[in-house]
Amino acid sequence: IISFGIGRTMMVGFNQLRDALFAKVGQNAVRSIGRDSFIHIHNLSLRFHLDRKTGKLNRIVDRGMKGIENIIRLAVLNTFPTVFEFLFVAIILLFQFDWRYLFVVTIIVISYVFFTFSYSKKRNIYRNQMNKSDEEANFKAIDSLLNYETVKHFNNEKMEAARFDNAILGYEKASVKVMTSLAFLNFGQTFIFTFGLTVCMLMSAFDVMIGKQSIGDFVMINALLMQLAIPLNFFGFIYREVSQGFVDLKSLILIMSAIPEVEDKINAKSLIINRGEISFKDVSFFYNKKRNILKSINFDVPSGSSLAIVGPSGAGKSTISKLLFRFYDVTSGSIKIDSQDLREVTQDSIRKQIGIVPQDTVLFNDTMEYNIKYGRLNASKKEIENVIDQSQLRDFINSLPDGLNTMVGERGLKLSGGEKQRVAIARTLLKAPSILVLDEATSSLDTLTEKEIKDSLVKLSKKQTTLIIAHRLSTVISSDKILVLNKGEIIEEGNHYSLLKKNGLYSEMWYTQQDIAKAEETLKKVKPEYKKLINKNE
Ligand code: ATP
Repeated sequence: IISFGIGRTMMVGFNQLRDALFAKVGQNAVRSIGRDSFIHIHNLSLRFHLDRKTGKLNRIVDRGMKGIENIIRLAVLNTFPTVFEFLFVAIILLFQFDWRYLFVVTIIVISYVFFTFSYSKKRNIYRNQMNKSDEEANFKAIDSLLNYETVKHFNNEKMEAARFDNAILGYEKASVKVMTSLAFLNFGQTFIFTFGLTVCMLMSAFDVMIGKQSIGDFVMINALLMQLAIPLNFFGFIYREVSQGFVDLKSLILIMSAIPEVEDKINAKSLIINRGEISFKDVSFFYNKKRNILKSINFDVPSGSSLAIVGPSGAGKSTISKLLFRFYDVTSGSIKIDSQDLREVTQDSIRKQIGIVPQDTVLFNDTMEYNIKYGRLNASKKEIENVIDQSQLRDFINSLPDGLNTMVGERGLKLSGGEKQRVAIARTLLKAPSILVLDEATSSLDTLTEKEIKDSLVKLSKKQTTLIIAHRLSTVISSDKILVLNKGEIIEEGNHYSLLKKNGLYSEMWYTQQDIAKAEETLKKVKPEYKKLINKNE
């Protein structure tokens, strides 16, 4: 009795000790898988990220991390002790009683395990449905909240609520199935066990009646089988949780096994830029086989010169900058920088040396300083102050109560379009890249600020090879060369004056824009009069 007491205390103590010691192992595995999936997802190509649904992805990673914790905690740390406990009970049964009892117990265990395996497989389908609905609901919620203003602009709150409710209805239905099937699983397991227990007790009662066994043996059989129920139940629980863990981990494993579309070659070298010459040779490209975007594009940008690409919306201008960053590999032809084919060098070394002020600037939900410093994380305070001046952000920052510590809001939405664009310019100036891409870099600025910033950009582009993508032709007049892109083809090229002489698309675009400019000029002239009128009224 004393050893029973000691044994029981030790059992509880060792269980707790195991959980305490292995907490670090489990949590470390959770961190590892979280970190590895974060790195892997960042390594996946742009196409994956354009297709991804953020809310869904977030759930997949979250669930995967919990799944791995369950698998480690239960499968690795509990399976062996449970099997050991079962074997221990089986040996006592065989030696203390006869083979008939062991036979019945073995049948119980086999039926129990078989039922648990096959029924859990069915339950996994429900669990899968539950996970899918959960992902869908989260995706819809995040997408709707990100588009808060659009929802309000169009008064579509009710429709959004209905869409979300529909998604969680799926989750509700699947969860109910998961729970009711769990009740059935529990009942089935208990039924199998109780059936076996009843058979063993009947056999023992009969043996007591014929004098083969004592009342003590009858009690012992009962106690032993009850003891067997603990590891069996626990085994059922482990299997259920572990197989659920694998279901939860499945989507994450699928993502982790996705191969990035653009991959560095084995032993790819770093891109070395000395002169900064860019050469596009017969470059064709499509995002989707059925629709060609760029068709046999040829151009060279000599070291330190500037090339402007203009043309109608959707012509493929930004696509050229994406190819230069190697977000995609060309479908045919080649892009070279200083005679090195981009496919032969590492993506990291390309992106380190090219800077871009993108068409739509998106900021991190952090401070102004963090967003500017993002261009070069080790930049000094003085360097940051310098680029703030160059990008005409000084007055704006001075007007903010918290100055550089102002939070810019999600995606930088607390800043105006022009302010965001200036932050983008500041961080690119800080990066001081060897090749500069300006994709509509000043499109959100008023003419005055644009003029002031232009000086800084011109200074920068004098030193670097620069690719300018623009709609407003007034911003590209001084470029060394201008390409006119239409439907993925270069239809005209030259400098501003030679293009005007050609009387083609460029000159047509130029004169149309000039009319607008003239109208603006007239307005400016009228403005002083307008001001006077306002003063009089006051
Ligand atoms: P804009 O002046 O309006 O910015 P653009 O000339 O820069 O236009 P691109 O952004 O290069 O045009 O796009 C060229 C074409 O490729 C467009 O018709 C666009 O719909 C398509 N496109 C762009 N990105 C993708 C993508 N990831 N998948 C499929 N098609 C795309």
